[in-house]
Amino acid sequence: MPINIPQRKAVIQDIKSRGGMVAAVLPIHYPRALLRAFNIFPVEVWGPPRVDVSLGGSQLQSYVCAIVQNALSFIKMGALEIADLILIPHTCDSLQGLTSLLIDMVKPPSPVFPLYLPRGRREEDVIFLAEELQSLYAGLAELTGRRPTDAELLAAIAREELCDQLSGRLYEQRQTLGLGNLDFYRLLRSREYLPAEEFAALAESALAVEAAPLPGTPLLLSGILPEPMMVLDLIEEMKGLVVADDFAGCGRRLYRPGLSPEPFRRLAESLVAAPPDPTRGNAIGDRVQFLVEMAAKTYARGVIFYEVKFCEPELFDLPELRAALKERGLVSLHIEVDINNPLPQQTATRIGAFLEMLNH
Ligand code: SF4
Repeated sequence: MPINIPQRKAVIQDIKSRGGMVAAVLPIHYPRALLRAFNIFPVEVWGPPRVDVSLGGSQLQSYVCAIVQNALSFIKMGALEIADLILIPHTCDSLQGLTSLLIDMVKPPSPVFPLYLPRGRREEDVIFLAEELQSLYAGLAELTGRRPTDAELLAAIAREELCDQLSGRLYEQRQTLGLGNLDFYRLLRSREYLPAEEFAALAESALAVEAAPLPGTPLLLSGILPEPMMVLDLIEEMKGLVVADDFAGCGRRLYRPGLSPEPFRRLAESLVAAPPDPTRGNAIGDRVQFLVEMAAKTYARGVIFYEVKFCEPELFDLPELRAALKERGLVSLHIEVDINNPLPQQTATRIGAFLEMLNH
């Protein structure tokens, strides 16, 4: 049964009409709950389509990924004027470059907040991130004139932790939700802009359905995000079934709750313990282990690395990662896509050949 997901524009208008503020948030990891405690609603910007890319292209090198090119173009088009602030996690060199460009040259109408993330999972990393989140708190307090109490922060954290838990259950039950590849990711990705309460209601209604398992050759997808999303229908048409993913925007954000009763530390613990991610400097060995276990658990027969063109952190790991997976019996296909263009026929042919190979 198709799920009725509200449109992003309508959600933003609704937030504004209720006196909420909107943060445009760039990829990947950030503290949703911290923003919400200030009555700021995060709306994520993952390289929106249908932009005039020449606007961003005039200030960026041609080998910068489309997520950053499109985001800059989007800002220069004035499309983010509705946002009360722009939050840019320091995910990669390209996003760090974008932060500098915005602060020093473009000067968008809304303030830009950078967020530095640690590159490891040690105790020092948790401490560093907790302090970084406290600085963000101070900046947001100055912007809004509010100072949420620990109790308010913890209430916001509990709301997002519930959504994390529901997202995890959607993954666990994905094969009996009656949702095809595309509908499953539409639902999951609605959290990129829906307030937690609305996402939770949608997820709970999806989880109430119990349908017969879908047929298809089980596949695991990896990369930054499933864009263009038409790949999901394409895989289904070719009798493939996405049973798991390691997308930066999806599976790598299945956060577990932190343990500490202190809000900043709890948020930091949760972000630092997220699944392995090359943008957070996690070791290739950890990624191999994670992917092999995920494939075993979901019976995925192969991995498609569906990568955004020019994404350095992803591409850097890939040769070693694929070789190590092959040694462990997990074959893979690497596809690079331009998220601004429809998928070329050649991509469909390669996915078809890969599925055929897995079935023999
Ligand atoms: S696609 Fe890769 S290079 Fe581009 S913003 Fe995301 S992580 Fe950075």
